[in-house]
Amino acid sequence: MRPCAEHDDLGCPMTRINRVNGKGGVPCDIMLIGEAPGKTEDKKGMPFCGKSGSELTHLYLAKRAQIDRKNAYVTNLVKCRTNDKDRDPNDAEIKACGVLLMHELRVVRPRFIGTIGRISTQWLLGGTSRMEKIHGFGYGFQFLYEDDFGYLVMPLYHPAYGLHNTSMMRHIMEDWTRFGKMVRGDESVMWRANG
Ligand code: URA
Repeated sequence: MRPCAEHDDLGCPMTRINRVNGKGGVPCDIMLIGEAPGKTEDKKGMPFCGKSGSELTHLYLAKRAQIDRKNAYVTNLVKCRTNDKDRDPNDAEIKACGVLLMHELRVVRPRFIGTIGRISTQWLLGGTSRMEKIHGFGYGFQFLYEDDFGYLVMPLYHPAYGLHNTSMMRHIMEDWTRFGKMVRGDESVMWRANG
């Protein structure tokens, strides 16, 4: 496991330093941004591995979105496990690690971004966006990079949400189907201001 070289420079408040870097080709058209590594990710140093990784690879990406994980760059907003209970990352952690994710975005230059869960969604789209209103729709952006490179973002419900609330599973599954559609250029999943 690699210590985070930027830890002090970023003013990161974390005491853990098992950093889990993003994984995938560079550049890469498709980027998925989770929240923070869990126990298995922390141990193995790889985002979305173990049970959550297998579900992401085989169920959500392959089956629902019809995307091979090899064609996606997978990362997290916060690069270190928050604590033994996997609490949500706090503002200071997000601020410190967000700098790393900005660098990652500039290097990976994705055209399609899936933000997995509320926290990474709000980091990218703004603090007040509510998942129940915006999930499963594609939003076009132009401004993140210094050049005119545009990209589409789709907020996705975090699969872990379904563990506590099984009625959510239908929406979680549907989000991934819609993400695959967005990547294949299906305009029907794009958000329209007037419905
Ligand atoms: N594993 C990750 O790497 N990130 C998450 O958000 C959840 C599980």
